[in-house]
Amino acid sequence: MRGRRWLELGADLLYPPRCPFCGGILPDRWALVCPDCADQEEKALRRPAKVDQSKHSFYCIEKAAALYKYHHPLVNAGILRMKSSEPWYTASFARLMAVRLYGYDPQQNRCLLDLSLEYDLLVPVSDSRGGREYWVPGMMASQLGKFTGLPAEKKALVKVRDTRRQAGLDREERFTNLIGAFRVKDPRRVEGKRVLLLDDVITTGSTVSCAAQALLEGGAASVSVLSLAVSEQE
Ligand SMILES: [Zn+2]
Repeated sequence: MRGRRWLELGADLLYPPRCPFCGGILPDRWALVCPDCADQEEKALRRPAKVDQSKHSFYCIEKAAALYKYHHPLVNAGILRMKSSEPWYTASFARLMAVRLYGYDPQQNRCLLDLSLEYDLLVPVSDSRGGREYWVPGMMASQLGKFTGLPAEKKALVKVRDTRRQAGLDREERFTNLIGAFRVKDPRRVEGKRVLLLDDVITTGSTVSCAAQALLEGGAASVSVLSLAVSEQE
């Protein structure tokens, strides 16, 4: 234990913990956000985190939750940086999700809420092939799994064909663009499981719905969705 502490201290000196929103150095290893971003982060939080499904094109989804308002400038900038920058941004955002939504205590390394009462599996939305340098929802699922104790099944869902970029398409075009895009590769991984599907941003909800449909067709018992941010005119 003592050795581990020294290792952590050494790692902090080499790679000081940083704020996921601005990249600024955090005052200590337990801080989540830097003092400059704290007020804005508070304003960017969605309370409650539950997403009103009637405001989106959801189908096949039991419950949906998202931590932040996507259109808040702090969140928008943070997510842009996360997608184009080092993976530690994704890990820090996953920690924020665990703390804010499930009462994860980083010092004790445990969650107040027992997620296994509601879900069996975390499944990330699979990325388009040959896309980004690293796969944000995949990394987010691994990290969130570490914090919550819920197993992450990163290979459950595959994208079987490339789709056009969703940005710029209207609701109907997004829906058509995604038909049959996802498939469960090995049904044994999801059969009878209550899945918590993970994505970084929800806009219309068509991507997560299409992925949820594939999971249900693959034998999942239910699919709920969790996202870092949601695009909503509130
Ligand atoms: Zn900051």
